[in-house]
Amino acid sequence: AAKRHGRNHSQRFRPSLDMQDSPQLGLVNELRHALATGTQLELHYQGQHHLADGALVGLEALLRWRHPRDGMISPADFIPLAERHGLMASLGNWVIDQALAQLARWRRLGMPEVPVWVNVSALQMFQGELETALAAGLARHGIPPGLLGLEITESVLLDERAGDIAPRLGVLRERGHPIAIDDFGTGYSSLGYLKKLPLDKLKLDRAFIKALPDDRADAAIVGAVLAMARGLELQVIAEGVETIAQRDFLQAAGCSLVQGFLYARPLPAELLEAQWQEHDSAGGPPGGARVAAE
Ligand code: C2E
Ligand code: MG
Ligand code: MG
Ligand code: MG
Repeated sequence: AAKRHGRNHSQRFRPSLDMQDSPQLGLVNELRHALATGTQLELHYQGQHHLADGALVGLEALLRWRHPRDGMISPADFIPLAERHGLMASLGNWVIDQALAQLARWRRLGMPEVPVWVNVSALQMFQGELETALAAGLARHGIPPGLLGLEITESVLLDERAGDIAPRLGVLRERGHPIAIDDFGTGYSSLGYLKKLPLDKLKLDRAFIKALPDDRADAAIVGAVLAMARGLELQVIAEGVETIAQRDFLQAAGCSLVQGFLYARPLPAELLEAQWQEHDSAGGPPGGARVAAE
């Protein structure tokens, strides 16, 4: 132990990246532990809705880390960490398994059957175990692939390893998984990929929705994306819809799907179930009541 201490001690005074990394390394080990025990990680689910009537059409699974000392840590903070330290494959597999287990539970309970969409990180895509993990998970939980959608962030396509993504996505889509491009419009990718990739949906990034309806540039971009998507026979879902003015603009522009705080916040599974049961006993459509009431 004395020897170890000595080594660590000398490292502390080496002016290198190690120094900046050390608090992060603590967090990495805690993440490794959280992953091994599974207790601090959870998925929250945010509804995706038909703009016109608020009907629930899908749910996005969003990862949460309830850290015992630091509280909720945002995925935007710990996912890059997991990617840098080789934990992304296990974290991604945990998300897939958890989402499928939840789908199986909702089926047993007779809850609304809509696809759950998981976010797939670049590393999951490139490390090559995604297909196996998906197939094994679907079989284990008895879920048809059509109920598990895959959201791939647009910036993945910029990666030099992206060359073989199209055929792999093709295989997954042929198996029945719906596929969406996430954060569409922010990835600096060439639009040419839209011709080559097998896709169902574009998720229009919140950056373009935020300043609607007043920002003329954003309004023009949103209108153009919707027109292009119609031509390509792709669905568009607007992310981060927070206000009625934004919704009204999107409706007039011909966007039929929305996700955002105006409709629903990401919620733990138990809270969603409670909401569904409430709507059920009230006889209303699940997911529709919230917006109708606004
Ligand atoms: P994303 O996939 O684009 O997810 C949408 C983010 O926008 C979520 O943040 C969601 O909570 C937030 N959001 C939804 N509606 C609104 C709104 O009306 N207003 C505002 N201000 N925000 C809204 P979250 O949960 O913090 O996730 C951030 C990002 O972390 C996600 O962006 C996704 O890229 C990544 N992420 C989350 N879970 C996973 C996961 O399981 N695996 C991977 N690889 N990445 C994940
Ligand atoms: Mg997403
Ligand atoms: Mg997104
Ligand atoms: Mg986004």
